[in-house]
Amino acid sequence: MFVTVKGLVLRQVRYKEADRILTLLTDTEGKLTVKARGALRKGSKMAAASQDLCYAEFTLFGNRGKWTADEASTLEQFLGLREDIAQLALGAYFAEMLDTVCPEEQPAGGALQLALNALYALSRGIYTPEHVKAVFELRLLCLEGFQPEVEACGVCGRTEMDGAMFSPASGMTHCAGCAPGSAGASVALDGPALAALRHIVAAPAKKEFSFAIPEDSLERLGRAAELFARYQLDRNFYSLDYWKSVK
Ligand SMILES: [Zn+2]
Repeated sequence: MFVTVKGLVLRQVRYKEADRILTLLTDTEGKLTVKARGALRKGSKMAAASQDLCYAEFTLFGNRGKWTADEASTLEQFLGLREDIAQLALGAYFAEMLDTVCPEEQPAGGALQLALNALYALSRGIYTPEHVKAVFELRLLCLEGFQPEVEACGVCGRTEMDGAMFSPASGMTHCAGCAPGSAGASVALDGPALAALRHIVAAPAKKEFSFAIPEDSLERLGRAAELFARYQLDRNFYSLDYWKSVK
């Protein structure tokens, strides 16, 4: 069976003389493991298309659950990322998160579109890396079923929340009066950080990045997003530590 997919390379490892094994996040087939034949031959189209974080069209042959690609053409290489080690490291974190949350062969069109928008914004410098990272983390978790409650206080239901506290462990937001006494790992949000959090959760696709936020509010938002991802996915990411060491 032949099928043509558009896919983002989340991971690639060398296989035998001239091939690569790719982890692809595709538009129609979800996440797939694909053997890319001839991917290490110099000058082959597959060589360019099968690099980390490359978005390309692949012609796949499927046989008994195994996928092989002989042909590919690059759609977007995100060149801006490849010129900056910190940007590339952040892209690698996005890829590691996608590989973690997207199950094999389950539709993941929303996650793919989010990833492409995030990588595009990063590579073109449309938003700061911290802005792109916070949106990507929160929105990916929403898409995968971990939506935080940010509209109303989790205890009293009030929506006007001065001094709101966000709990990354529960995904709940609390007004100042209801915030648990031992806030623990809760993150204190200010007005712009809470507004941004609400926007990221509720905005239509492609609009999730579109907001302005002062730097200190972005720092709060970033802490909330990163901790939320870490608690909900219950793991650390090596690529995130690496990004922090080079940014
Ligand atoms: Zn309350």
